[in-house]
This record gives sequence, structure tokens and C-alpha cells, in this order.
Amino acid sequence: MHIIDMRSDTVTKPTPAMRQAMYDAEVGDDVLGDDPTVQRLEELAAARLGKEAGLFVASGTMGNLICLLTHCGRGDEVILGDQAHTYIYEQGGSSALGGIHPRPLPNRPDGSIDLATMEAAIRGADIHFPRTKLITLENTHNRCGGAVLPVSTMQAVGELAHKHGLAFHLDGARLFNAAVALDVDAKELAAPCDSVTFCLSKGLGAPVGSVVVGSRAFVEEARRSRKVVGGGMRQAGVIAAAGIVALTQMVERLADDHANARRFAEGIAGIPGIALDLASVQSNIVIFEVDHPTVSPQQLVDVLWQQGIWTFAIGGKRVRAVTNYHVTAEDADMAARAVATAMGA
Ligand SMILES: *Cc1c(COP(=O)(O)O)cnc(C)c1O
Repeated sequence: MHIIDMRSDTVTKPTPAMRQAMYDAEVGDDVLGDDPTVQRLEELAAARLGKEAGLFVASGTMGNLICLLTHCGRGDEVILGDQAHTYIYEQGGSSALGGIHPRPLPNRPDGSIDLATMEAAIRGADIHFPRTKLITLENTHNRCGGAVLPVSTMQAVGELAHKHGLAFHLDGARLFNAAVALDVDAKELAAPCDSVTFCLSKGLGAPVGSVVVGSRAFVEEARRSRKVVGGGMRQAGVIAAAGIVALTQMVERLADDHANARRFAEGIAGIPGIALDLASVQSNIVIFEVDHPTVSPQQLVDVLWQQGIWTFAIGGKRVRAVTNYHVTAEDADMAARAVATAMGA
């Protein structure tokens, strides 16, 4: 059966160029600073995002955790969105492992957080309060349907953070999707941030890994945090090599994923029982609601699954479909037709 896997962009398998680069990779013990391929990836990532240094980490979750551990000590507070991946999907790791107190604020449907609310949440000097140390944003925003925050929002939040002596971290798991969707250099989105995590293993197609970037001093400290969470890897050049291919060959083509997401979204938007605001489809994620007297969201997902079209029910009435480089325009059309048939349209 032809499988159209739209569960996530994490399902992407390494390209032939990646497998070749992995085979050829020059390696060494990276904890001892000996792996030239890891170093090349870290330098490349830093340069792409206009930062001084980079740090190769095992996952996006690890990258965010390391950044929070580096910016905050025990009892310090981080302001973040109540729909943030870091708040919802990372086991509260920064609390569990770092004693960091989360201050979740409502995410608006476009992934942003109201600036006045954010400013009001910054703690004053009072012995009763934790100390606010950090603001984090997410771009693109996963639970907000891949919503893209523009450069102006990044700048405004950066200014607010810095005015109050706070650091600003970006969970940019899909930062390059945001840059491609906005047609801006990723540097512009990263410029207001003190640290950024982005994933190589999602739409960019690498099998493993994320990169943290920031100032040289920040990355030096983050390297310590990486070691304490068990993230010091040895001949990691084998996987970093695929990351280099991801960064150099797989960024521009994200535009195809966005076009295919839109194509799928346009194909299902008019189907009775499907609720979808097309304006919400800004990158490679389509989140729609199933509101039908006899077909539940899970039933729709199950019917599609049997036809080799894989999506996820993500709670409530919501279903998520994510395009990636294995999903073609024809696949997007076929998936949309299958939704129409399943809904009895
Ligand atoms: C996937 C994701 C992460 C975590 O990445 P993993 O590599 O799966 O740990 C973090 N933030 C966002 C927004 C994500 O989508």
C-alpha cells in the first residue's frame, strides 16, 4: 500500500545524500572536542542564525532543557505560552530537573502572547516572588497549527525582555519553516534572541539532532548543561554529517511542504463537518476540527489510517496533518479526497 504519512515531519527518513555523508563522516570524541564534523555543523548553524556559537544536541527537547538550565537557576521563573511545546510536551523537564518555575500565559491563536500581559507577569523585587529570568517563544508554533510569528513580534518580545534584564529564548524547532514562510533570513528571526534551539530532524529530514545557538559565553555554559543531562556524545559526527546536509540542502524545499499543506487544506476546507480556517495554515501543519454527528475525530483518523493516510487526533475535535518531503502534491490531493469520502461528502 502507498503510505502518506502526515502524522508529523519527524517521520522523514534521511536522504541518500545524508546517508552518504554519514558514511563518509570524519569523526572524533566530541566530548574531548575532537569531532571535526560536529564542529563544522555547530559553526554552520551559528553562521546561518547570525550567532557566535552552536551546540549539537540529541533532540529539541534536550536543546530547550539545556537552554532553560543555562538561563535559569533553581526557583527562577520562565514566562512561556500555555500552548508551548516546552510547557506541554517536555514532561515539565525544566521543573523536574532544574527547579525552574513556569509562568504560562495564554497563547493567542496566532502563536503570540499579549505583550502587556507578558510585561505584567514580570515579577518585581519582592521576597515572596520567584525571580523572572527568561521569556520563551515558539516559532513556528506547533499547537497553534504551525503559526508563524513575524520578525516584528520577535523584536518586540526581545526588547521587552532586555528592557527588564531578562533573557529571551526561542524554541525554533521549525524556525526554518518560519523563515521560508515569511521569506526572510532566519537570522532576522534569531537576532532578538539570546538563545535558539532548532531541529534538524523534522522538516529538514536529518535522522537525529537539534542545534542550540547563542553567544560564545552562553554556549560554553550550555555545553556544561548538556553534559549533566547526559548529552555529551562521542563520535557524533556520524549524525552531525546528516545535519550538515539538512542545513545546506533541505531548507529552501520547505516551501514545497507549505504549498502541499495549503493544497490539502484547500481540499478539505469546504467539506461538511470539517472546520478549518485557511488563514491558520501558514507553514507545513494543518490542524482542523471534525464536527460531525456520526464521525468522531478518531474515527476519521482510523478510516484514513486503513487507507494508508496517517494523521493524528490531538485532543478535542482536533486532527493534525503535517506535510513533509515524503508527501507529494498528488498525495495531498489524494488525502483530501479520502477525507471527503470518509465524511460522506
Ligand atoms: C518537536 C518539537 C520539539 C522537541 O523536539 P524533539 O526533537 O522531538 O525532542 C520542541 N519544540 C517544538 C515546537 C517541537 O515541535
